[in-house]
Amino acid sequence: MPRTTKKTKPKKKTTTAKKTAPKAKPSKEGTTRKAVVKSESQKQPVKISKKTPQLLRGFKDILPGEQKYWDLIREKGEIFAYDYGFERIDLPFVEETSLFIRSVGKETDIIDKEMFSFEDRGGESVSLRPEATASVVRAYINHGMLNLSQPVKLYYIGPMFRYDRPQSGRYRQFNQLGFEILGDIHPVLDAQIIILSYNFFKELGVPVNIQINSIGCPECRKEYKVQLINYYKTQKADLCEDCQGRLTKNPLRLLDCKHEKCKTISEDAPQIVDWLCDECKNHFVKVLEFLDEIEIPYNLDPTLVRGLDYYTKTVFEILPALQDSENNNKKAQNSLGGGGRYDNLIELLGGRPTPAVGASIGVERAILKIKELEVEVQEKESPDIFIAQLGEAAKRKSLAFYEELRDEGIKIVESFSKDGLKSQLDIANKLGVKYTLILGQKELAEETILLRDMEGGVQETINYNKAIKEIKKRLGL
Ligand code: AMP
Repeated sequence: MPRTTKKTKPKKKTTTAKKTAPKAKPSKEGTTRKAVVKSESQKQPVKISKKTPQLLRGFKDILPGEQKYWDLIREKGEIFAYDYGFERIDLPFVEETSLFIRSVGKETDIIDKEMFSFEDRGGESVSLRPEATASVVRAYINHGMLNLSQPVKLYYIGPMFRYDRPQSGRYRQFNQLGFEILGDIHPVLDAQIIILSYNFFKELGVPVNIQINSIGCPECRKEYKVQLINYYKTQKADLCEDCQGRLTKNPLRLLDCKHEKCKTISEDAPQIVDWLCDECKNHFVKVLEFLDEIEIPYNLDPTLVRGLDYYTKTVFEILPALQDSENNNKKAQNSLGGGGRYDNLIELLGGRPTPAVGASIGVERAILKIKELEVEVQEKESPDIFIAQLGEAAKRKSLAFYEELRDEGIKIVESFSKDGLKSQLDIANKLGVKYTLILGQKELAEETILLRDMEGGVQETINYNKAIKEIKKRLGL
């Protein structure tokens, strides 16, 4: 493969990365500044705008005010992982493009339309991960986890990237919390993944519906696909353009098209459950029996196929608990999470034949729902102590005192850059601390410190050397 990287001689004291413009204007500093540089991989000139950079479409900043929701999901994710015996795995955001093509499937929307793929400097095609199951499987094979005691239970949380049309609840960078169980075919594990997902939302205060189906194995799907194609062929003229293509490329996906006309046609389509082989049928029945056993409510949805090629047998989706008609209308966008079994993926990627099942939860969607339902989310606990200082010497002393208090495990805040007492007390009030310690010239000279009770405004002078003990006593530490 030809290398696309061309080594350019490093220039002395230039402020931009590469020289590509034929004539460079001298900059104010006398160095050579270029208006354009070339992207290494595509060799396209990159325009450098002088405007304030803006967020890319479909991307989001998560500001401090939002963090309590993220903390909630992360913390709950960790607790659930612990409770159900999953260990954390962190995976790279960039992988070989072929990993996703081979696993998610060539004819899927994700691969066909939504991948962020590019050539790296070594000329290799790489992609920002659109999902993480493929990476989990790659890591499972790469690190010889096939030889550990099975099943191996892993969880992850992190960003995924899909070049989809952005709208409310659909971003180009979004986060998923995922749980994967690799190395065991027992249907009780499908049930456990569903139970975990259901309980996750229940504990968040978001009621959900589980939609479930079985899409069988490649064997039983063979005959079913023939039936499906025959059925849709008779209605081909009424199908949307995408579905006309799906007829030959990915017939299963005809079933979950969101176009009204296609949806109506799908109502009478042959159902996969009628074509399942005995093994797949038994597996599905067992999964449902386990769910019944602990009374997890679910709806059988014969049109549910999910958009990724690697699924076998059980597939499920987590929808917010709405009226069925509402759910049907908004299905794809509403979906809070989903998953299923992928018994052939490990072998397909070069590992020993190994069954697996997993789920992923859309973090942004979960947060949107929490907000919409006005679920009360705990604010971060207020700090206990504010330290105010007046004058240079006191500033220096309070800097050291701050560290001492922190070492003692006291939740302390400051505003060292401020000088006036009033502005510091205003901040202390805003932060909702119980006490403010005030250190000024007088206190320094007398080796004391003022302790101000923020509720009543009462101030007392205490001995500096006994201050920590006194504060701890008052805070009940
Ligand atoms: P999938 O990997 O497509 O099965 O998606 C699993 C979950 O991730 C979905 O149910 C959504 O909650 C979430 N999700 C998928 N795509 C997006 C997106 N573009 N923006 C936000 N969340 C998404």
